Amino acid sequence: MFSTAEVGIDLGTANILIYTKSKGIVLNEPSVVAIDVNTKQVVAVGTEAKEMVGKTPQNIIPIRPLKDGVIADYDVTSQMLKAFLKKVSKQIGMSMRKPVVVVCTPSGSTTVERRAIHNAVSSYGAKQVHLIEEPIAAAIGADLPVDEPVANVVVDIGGGTSEVGIISFGGVVSCNSVRVGGDKMDEEIIHHIRKNYNILIGERTAENIKMEIGYAHQNHKEETMEIRGRDMVTGLPKTITITSKEVYLALKESLEQVLGAIRTTLENCPPELSGDIVDHGIVLTGGGALLQGMQEWLSHELIVPVHLAPNPLESVAIGTGRSLKMIHKLQKATK
Ligand code: ADP
Ligand code: MG
Repeated sequence: MFSTAEVGIDLGTANILIYTKSKGIVLNEPSVVAIDVNTKQVVAVGTEAKEMVGKTPQNIIPIRPLKDGVIADYDVTSQMLKAFLKKVSKQIGMSMRKPVVVVCTPSGSTTVERRAIHNAVSSYGAKQVHLIEEPIAAAIGADLPVDEPVANVVVDIGGGTSEVGIISFGGVVSCNSVRVGGDKMDEEIIHHIRKNYNILIGERTAENIKMEIGYAHQNHKEETMEIRGRDMVTGLPKTITITSKEVYLALKESLEQVLGAIRTTLENCPPELSGDIVDHGIVLTGGGALLQGMQEWLSHELIVPVHLAPNPLESVAIGTGRSLKMIHKLQKATK
């Protein structure tokens, strides 16, 4: 029998991933688009556009249209989405096979924004377009038994937001979202270095520092890293060495906010499901879950088991693609 192609799109604030049932992940690129302000044309998308951040001439601006977890500019978001679909459409046979597409949108998105996303995907030849909530997609992608009557807790730490959701019986029982994620951590690192060393560093450098020597807890073996930036007094380039302990202090507040969001969600959990959490624990996903020591720190603070999803950066995309089977059930549950 002819089977319809099934496509899942994770429209994340930092990264966009496209998954197909037959080929797995076919696209994984930063959610960045570079626009020429004079012509309003898209000059580059994804990795190519991210490389331009902080290095472009004045007429070309790299934009992250989803940066703070909301769709700041849905026109640019649609353009970016179309550019990515164009990139993979041959590979996934978008127009030939008329696929069914499921898109996972940031939870803060409004009806208008959702419609814009829906339209952008439809105009690319999709037969049907469904939108899915992020915690459900993350839980499916992390292989949790979402349609069973047990509490599945997922914590998705992304770029612009961190989302905590408790899913049971195919629906969201309780959820919480904070506008704190990897981006905020990068900003705190930039701020720390400016304040303590009078040196200005870019977003990319800050993200590298976080990934290399960032830790979620203070008790770790100290590491150091050499970094380069611009001396704000002389205006000249300067190299300094920073330590993982000071980076930890810069990240501390953001981490506390993520922890607070998890605590609140667990407190709002119906008592019948609380017991499950003590047994099964919670699952971490999203790029922020990869911060060193995150799993141990959260487990220590929350006194429940904390697991890392098999592919934290890919779970939402995989879950979105796989959700199709459940979509009708989910639509009923979220109505
Ligand atoms: P979104 O779903 O919002 O697009 P992702 O789940 O793709 O976000 O995660 C992106 C965030 O994860 C970025 O802020 C990135 O810096 C961060 N990240 C990725 N890898 C690591 C790592 N190894 N350590 C710490 N943070 C990481
Ligand atoms: Mg995400």
